[in-house]
Amino acid sequence: MMDKKVRVRFAPSPTGGLHLGGVRTVLFNYLFAKHFGGDFILRIEDTDQTRFVEGAEDYIFECLKWCGLTPDESPLHGGPYAPYRQSERKEIYRQYAEQLLKDGHAYYAFDTPEELDAKRKEIPNFQYNHQHRLALRNSVSLTETETAKLLEKNVPYVIRIKMPDNEEVRFTDMIRGEVNFHSSQTDDKVLLKADGMPTYHLAVVVDDYLMKITHAFRGEEWLPSAPVHILLWKYLGWINDMPKWAHLPLILKPDGNGKLSKRDGDRLGFPVFAMNWTDPKTGDPDSHREIKGFKELGFLPEAFLNLLAVLGWNDGTEQEIYSLDEMIEKFSIERVHHAGAKFDYEKAKWFNHEWIKRLPVTSYQLRVKKIFEEKGLVITDDEKFVKVLELVKDRCTLLTDFYEQSVFFFVAPSTIDIDSIKPKWNENKQMFFVELIRAYELLQQWQHDDLENTFKEIAAAHQLKSGELMLPLRIMLVGGKFGPGVFDIASVIGKDETVKRIEYTLGLL
Ligand code: GLU
Repeated sequence: MMDKKVRVRFAPSPTGGLHLGGVRTVLFNYLFAKHFGGDFILRIEDTDQTRFVEGAEDYIFECLKWCGLTPDESPLHGGPYAPYRQSERKEIYRQYAEQLLKDGHAYYAFDTPEELDAKRKEIPNFQYNHQHRLALRNSVSLTETETAKLLEKNVPYVIRIKMPDNEEVRFTDMIRGEVNFHSSQTDDKVLLKADGMPTYHLAVVVDDYLMKITHAFRGEEWLPSAPVHILLWKYLGWINDMPKWAHLPLILKPDGNGKLSKRDGDRLGFPVFAMNWTDPKTGDPDSHREIKGFKELGFLPEAFLNLLAVLGWNDGTEQEIYSLDEMIEKFSIERVHHAGAKFDYEKAKWFNHEWIKRLPVTSYQLRVKKIFEEKGLVITDDEKFVKVLELVKDRCTLLTDFYEQSVFFFVAPSTIDIDSIKPKWNENKQMFFVELIRAYELLQQWQHDDLENTFKEIAAAHQLKSGELMLPLRIMLVGGKFGPGVFDIASVIGKDETVKRIEYTLGLL
């Protein structure tokens, strides 16, 4: 049990589509919070206006909605610590930067971009840090009077953290255990920018504190920023309230060679975004291209969450399929792996197939209907539609597969694989089908078993094995050698259509 109510946050910057890794971060936050009956907060970290991308924030909301990971507090849902968008909290941060200045943990830096550029040219691998601080224009190198004068003249400045030059910064990560950094390895990060906006480093610490965040899950790429954040927690006097950190392992390329990037999807032919994403940033038609997402490619949210959960976590058993409720129940941070997890698209599809089979078709019927409509097939008979989906679902890996697997239930096949019937065709078989049509026309009941029994009786009368006749019948009804049970098909498409399709093929033979 936890001594205080668990509060976690997902804190994305709206700079683009949500990558697999981002959704997994949401999921682990969510699972952890819900496991302990806590709250999941969505905070938009949009203080870097230069990286702002139109539509990215809505996209994040939409993704979470599709996944069913509803925040307890967010810019959309509101909450006791609103606003949840950092650009709307601008006024809050300055006082903390000033407190740090006053306590000597931060300083004003007046260097112009040109001055900094000159330094970068002069010093290889230049960093604004304890080593070079005194040779730059800031309130550490200048006298108090000089600084006061610059401030009075409204010379633009940023506020930087004064990283200690020789200190061990340690913390316990819930996944990695003890982590240490040497303070000299990190530069004096900007905390407050010239336009008065905080940087991510200041805002994330202030907001995690004010929003009473107890545990912070984020990607491993944020690990190098951790010492800055930890020192800020300490300098602001909040160290006892600091959230417990969990830096999640990377999701790796299928061959295990490095982090799975947004570009890998295109290169390797699988999605890396949760939903379709079009980057509106540039007018360049190439970057404007829509990048396919898991949703549109026909994944179910249940499968998407399941495959993400097991990328880096398992419950210690052989079990692979978990519903969200089961994941919440079984999730434990101790079972999150330290090492990166390789993404395997074939396995991802396997999860989807399993979920398509498991879920009642009514839960995804509307999405499949839409896919059919996009292909020009409008479904009007819902009862038949559900029956058909139920019959073919075991054959579908993606929701988009339903079309090909079941279109013949709604429209007669446009081509018939006649070459697969011809070689073994003979007069006797022809007679059989003629008689079958007659018998079917007389049937009072149009049910699977009646259809099958009639078929078998006539086959026996013609001294034919029903096995030899099934394939031709299938091809007549479906167009090829696929599909569910042939009498199931006939019973769903109905008497007229069955007879019509048999007659049509007989005319080709
Ligand atoms: N705003 C950061 C991002 O874009 C959040 C990192 C964190 O969770 O501290 O991912």
